[in-house]
Amino acid sequence: MAKLLTVEDETAIRELLAFICETDGHEVRKATSLADARAILAEETPDVILLDVMLPDGSGFDFLREVRANEGTQHVPVMMITARGDETDRVNGLDAGADDYIVKPFMPRELTARIRAVLRRSPADTVRTESPALVPEREKVVNCGPLTMNETRFEAEVDGFPLKLSVKEFRLLLLFASRPGRVFSRAQLLDAVWGNAYVDERTVDVHMLRLRKALAGTVAEQLIETVRGVGYRCRPVD
Ligand code: CA
Repeated sequence: MAKLLTVEDETAIRELLAFICETDGHEVRKATSLADARAILAEETPDVILLDVMLPDGSGFDFLREVRANEGTQHVPVMMITARGDETDRVNGLDAGADDYIVKPFMPRELTARIRAVLRRSPADTVRTESPALVPEREKVVNCGPLTMNETRFEAEVDGFPLKLSVKEFRLLLLFASRPGRVFSRAQLLDAVWGNAYVDERTVDVHMLRLRKALAGTVAEQLIETVRGVGYRCRPVD
């Protein structure tokens, strides 16, 4: 099950999208305009965004660029919903960093299969790195002691050895590594990494445990510490 955000102003299509996705087991938040979508994104980060092209307060392509330019949402897969036969929309969408597109009218089974395909892809495999039409961007790298994290590629390594991390673990570690010494409460971690209130704080502990397992046996083993009664932090590094 994934959290989806649909941005579609036509009620019939919006409801149909939501119905199909909910039937497939996803949780759907519905935005009818870009303003609406921005407000939802400020609250939580969805796993996939289904984005219409023509919206009352602007173009889906411009919104896609916003999503890609924003640190918190740049890795979220975006599927454009385009009109039938509009090749320009499709190309523009992929050029702007869309991961896939769905042509209206869409078949439920095709839609759900493509959402699943987009979800299966690792964040590093998105069209942004695949499309030759895109100019390569400067990669974002965070260094913290022996740890190096490439935010663009979703890769982390300790002294040159790659770490196997899930997306959530990667995001947690990135948050710590970006602010060594700072203590984060479970609620703050939930907010920053999960972005919604439906997840139990114990989920944070489970992921912290997995993150520590991933670091175990490396020189970064002691990098993350528990601050009793408060939360977690990355030890200050020189
Ligand atoms: Ca529309």
